[in-house]
Amino acid sequence: MLIKNAEVDAGLNPEINVYVPKNKFADFVISEALKQNVLDRGYEIPTPIQDQIIPLILDGRDVVGLARTGTGKTAAFLIPLINQVYNQRDIRVLILAPTRELAVQIDSEFKLFAKNLSIYSALCIGGANMNQQISALRRNPQFVIGTPGRLIDLEKRRIFKFSSFSTIVLDEVDQMFDMGFINDMKYVIENLPEQRHSLFFSATLPSKMTEIINSFL
Ligand code: AMP
Repeated sequence: MLIKNAEVDAGLNPEINVYVPKNKFADFVISEALKQNVLDRGYEIPTPIQDQIIPLILDGRDVVGLARTGTGKTAAFLIPLINQVYNQRDIRVLILAPTRELAVQIDSEFKLFAKNLSIYSALCIGGANMNQQISALRRNPQFVIGTPGRLIDLEKRRIFKFSSFSTIVLDEVDQMFDMGFINDMKYVIENLPEQRHSLFFSATLPSKMTEIINSFL
């Protein structure tokens, strides 16, 4: 299912592209504790990408989200995935981001939504202390968030296996391409379990991405 954030028409005035969300956060079928964390974060009205994609992810559907930074795409995948883990504690989620900064942002947002839910993350990025990351991974957190190079390095040291993740998010895939992570992405995808929940986010979908989308979804 492809969700294009920019091409939404509320059907009001064709001159003005206003999006009227169908849902409020209070309407989503997510646990009350998570709903409270979303409200505490100050979110009441979902952004267009959140409004459209959260119900699909809650349904376990694979998605391609066409959305750039600033659209609320991080919460669009974190909220339903935290809910999935809340309901089924053996789900393990891997989130791949192109830059350390983005991985840190995702992890900070994650911590706010996962507050008091006993759901934890390990942040695995280059340029940071590897021993701390290894101890975080050994505690077997439900979410692992990181950059491709460091994650592959840790996997090759047998600290964890890509095959142990049942849900995978590739975020800002166009940036991953631009930064030369194409072979790293292919390596990760090849080592994922065949049965999985796959989420793909990119600001653009150039034709060079077709192969990776086909192998991923
Ligand atoms: P992102 O595109 O995920 O980087 O989010 C962009 C910014 O929008 C972040 O500062 C979020 O905290 C904020 N944001 C995301 N979703 C909402 C929402 N539903 N209501 C208010 N702010 C939001």
